[in-house]
Amino acid sequence: MSIQENLRSIKSSLAKEVTLVAVSKTKPIDDIMEAYNAGQRIFGENKVQEMVKKWEQLPKDIQWHMIGHLQRNKVKYMAEFVDLVHGVDSLRLLKEINKNGAKHNRKIGCLLQMHIAEEDTKFGLDQEELNDLIASDEFQAMQYIEIRGLMGMATFTNNTDQIRKEFKFLKLCFEDLSKKLPQISILSMGMSGDYQLAMEEGSTMVRIGSSIFGARNYQ
Ligand SMILES: *Cc1c(COP(=O)(O)O)cnc(C)c1O
Repeated sequence: MSIQENLRSIKSSLAKEVTLVAVSKTKPIDDIMEAYNAGQRIFGENKVQEMVKKWEQLPKDIQWHMIGHLQRNKVKYMAEFVDLVHGVDSLRLLKEINKNGAKHNRKIGCLLQMHIAEEDTKFGLDQEELNDLIASDEFQAMQYIEIRGLMGMATFTNNTDQIRKEFKFLKLCFEDLSKKLPQISILSMGMSGDYQLAMEEGSTMVRIGSSIFGARNYQ
């Protein structure tokens, strides 16, 4: 199936209130343009340099989401244009984003990443770290970031009970955080293999790559 056909079929399987991030990491400009011409405007990348290159070459009404783990020294390259940073998991990183937002006089949208998987290779905050972060004076003082919600990645497993449990936990964290930050609206969870489950558990944003663009040759 073509990229356009894949997109159409995925979109028809999404609930109305769920936003699709088309994860285009490792994929060429032509593939992104095919999705763009089918109406897709939100794309996700996990490497800053790659995202910057694509931003330079592609139409400016694309909203770029940084979905990967982010090093602080790379924030400056994307601060001018990035629409949403999904993987924010430390106060130090948030401070760097805030500093670069200030330089460009814009508020940069951020999702705080929670650690929900069993694997310890996946980044993210636990609940205590999340609470400490948002309670800190430094956090409260930041003017150039806008926390829009939470993001998480489930364990890479076929065990759907396990995945569901992790998504349920993230949804609970989201509801809890909503009491403290009532403006949040985004719960970013679900990828090609588990987005149906994620939607059942309350996802409002899914990040889908291989089911749209085909398998990747490298990460
Ligand atoms: C690559 C990636 C995705 C998309 O994965 P697919 O399985 O190809 O849909 C989603 N989220 C993150 C954080 C990723 O790095």
